[in-house]
Amino acid sequence: MEEITALAKRRGFIFQSSEIYGGINGLWDYGPLGAVLKQNVKRAWWRDTVELRDDVVAFDSSIIMHPLVWKASGHLDAFHDVMIDCKVCKHRFRADHLKDRSQCPDCGSKDSFTEPRNFNLMMRTSIGPMEDTSSVAYLRPETAQGIFVNFKNIYQSARKRPPFGVAQIGKSFRNEITPGNFTFRVREFEQAELEYFVPDDGADMETFRAWVERRKNWYASYGIASERLRFYELTDSERPHYAKAGIDVEYLFPWGWGELESIAHRGTYDLDAHMALSGKDLRFFDEAAKAHYTPLLIESSAGMDRTALTFLIDAYERERSVDPNGKETERTVLRFHPFIAPVQVAIFSLARNKPELVERATSIEAALRPEFRTQYDEGNIGQLYRRQDEIGTPFCVTVDYETMDDGSVTLRSRDSMQQERVPGDQLNELLRERLR
Ligand code: ATP
Repeated sequence: MEEITALAKRRGFIFQSSEIYGGINGLWDYGPLGAVLKQNVKRAWWRDTVELRDDVVAFDSSIIMHPLVWKASGHLDAFHDVMIDCKVCKHRFRADHLKDRSQCPDCGSKDSFTEPRNFNLMMRTSIGPMEDTSSVAYLRPETAQGIFVNFKNIYQSARKRPPFGVAQIGKSFRNEITPGNFTFRVREFEQAELEYFVPDDGADMETFRAWVERRKNWYASYGIASERLRFYELTDSERPHYAKAGIDVEYLFPWGWGELESIAHRGTYDLDAHMALSGKDLRFFDEAAKAHYTPLLIESSAGMDRTALTFLIDAYERERSVDPNGKETERTVLRFHPFIAPVQVAIFSLARNKPELVERATSIEAALRPEFRTQYDEGNIGQLYRRQDEIGTPFCVTVDYETMDDGSVTLRSRDSMQQERVPGDQLNELLRERLR
């Protein structure tokens, strides 16, 4: 994990937020490559969940909503963790993360804990110029509520009838007691949430299973190692009382299993709660049956920061090999799926000081750029390959003296390290095929 964290910083994936001021706990910034990585993860989710479905519509709600939204959802009264402090070393713990409370795991002191206290995880802010109790507002701890309170606006304007879904990707905030494990547990993060509404016609569990299957295929299709991914089915006592089924998608991180996503059958709980507090009717009106009903809800809620971190960790490899001279070499490589890789093709000029090579290489890059994520570089080819391996670029193209004679270039693959000569004017076609 230390190696990955160091690489993430060195190559511009992830930086500590406000680093020059000593950083701030639980908050991170995405660097030039990290920002693209995360964007690609979100695009992959959006494509599969929204664009490829004719029954899912898009949504984008505000981060700050009416405080009563959080009253109805239960977050104001019940969204808390229990924390306890060690009186000796002053370290703070989430009570549910402590296996044994007789001795502090950090300093070893016996019976040194304070009484457990509830701590609400919602971030507070205030609205308007006067800071008093009437101005209190909250940064959303999940994006889903924006969809529930708009349920009627959405189905009426989009002319949808259950079964149909609403998807949104956006920032959420939680005042986590113990942020940590790099970007795994943070205080500001992005969620990708799908709220899929179905009629109560007996097919709801089938739909639930179908979404679980779809999400399984999604992780697999982008190359996440199946032996490090599990779909844990929550038992009756682990689920909230209103939920009919629940599955946690977990990845085996270097520190153990951690949740990436939760998929749940939430019944009518969320719409019921908002109807009860707002007094507004959010039920669906079935024209054919001339009757109102509250649809059941199947939810998939995935953390995009945790997923991006998973792609980074899963792709990371230190590979030893023997070169043609019998010398043992080692390289660091990120084996990203081509859709996820921040850079897809790097184009090099063999020499810096040869204007005709530089010109040819930059014109090849310009031809590839509209179709692929490209990067131009020049200098020592061995070093350039190593750098591109480290950021997970699937292909490198090198322009050399031979290119000037016959138009051919060297195409080098990240995974096999094989190099081949190919016609420079056929690169678009070739790469289109190989980056699929
Ligand atoms: P945990 O048990 O890890 O605190 P949770 O069960 O509270 O997570 P949910 O409320 O189900 O999480 O949120 C859905 C998803 O949002 C999670 O699976 C995770 O990917 C993401 N998420 C939740 N909290 C955080 C956080 N503090 N940092 C990063 N991602 C988070």
